[in-house]
Amino acid sequence: MIEFCLVGSGAVRANPKRGGPCQVLTMGGRHLMIDCGRCAVNSLHTFGYRVEEIDTVLVTHLHFDHVCDLAHFVLLSWNNGRKNRLRFFGPPGLRDFLEIGIRRAYVLDIESRLGHGKDPLGIEWEVQEFDTDGRPVVGDFGVLSVLTTEHANMPNRNYRFDLHGRRIVITSDTTPDPALAEFSCNADLLVAECSGTQEFLSTVPWGSWHMVPEKLGELARRSHSKHVVLKHLVIEDWCDDPEISKKMAATVRQNYDGQVTVGRDGLKLRLD
Ligand SMILES: [Zn+2]
Ligand SMILES: [Zn+2]
Repeated sequence: MIEFCLVGSGAVRANPKRGGPCQVLTMGGRHLMIDCGRCAVNSLHTFGYRVEEIDTVLVTHLHFDHVCDLAHFVLLSWNNGRKNRLRFFGPPGLRDFLEIGIRRAYVLDIESRLGHGKDPLGIEWEVQEFDTDGRPVVGDFGVLSVLTTEHANMPNRNYRFDLHGRRIVITSDTTPDPALAEFSCNADLLVAECSGTQEFLSTVPWGSWHMVPEKLGELARRSHSKHVVLKHLVIEDWCDDPEISKKMAATVRQNYDGQVTVGRDGLKLRLD
């Protein structure tokens, strides 16, 4: 059994209804976390995950909304007695981010805990940076497919899992890119960012960095994906319309006749 959980469906701004980007894939009792944004650690607890049982982490890119809870995750899972060494996978820059942003930034905390007998293995990690697209192996989850797309001039990676005959695609933040259609071909589950409507994104300087519902509908149709889940719902932080995400889903459906779901924190989907 494979289970997907959208732990955090929001993005940058504080929003009690939507945590920052975080997703978990579970297979054979093992968990893999993708991104670790605002409130991810609290939400993992709320939705039934123990941080100390997660030892494999994928990062899409290093915008802070996707990684700002990583220090809490690393240190708390160590504190709670994680048995395995952490394994991180992600774009270039991840190794330095972890080294500077966690090991060096928290050096006094780490030395103090080591002095009280904490297992040093818990604060060690391996990092694999994806310099190019390809099909690396990510621990128990087997072969992963990696696709680079443009997003704010950042090293930016989208991920595809082929697990027990099921295909799951998890996009990063991304400009619409024709390569995503082939990458997502016949996906059982396409979890895609949909930051705002075309009208909204045309009014903000960073709007061109992101996916709009019209393009997401095209992507879903062209890729023959079976089910699309909308995430990274930035527009809700800016817009007073409580129905805005449902309207974006309706726009996706104009181009696509498969299943469309507006993501929410804690949404779990089983792929048997
Ligand atoms: Zn983001
Ligand atoms: Zn981003």
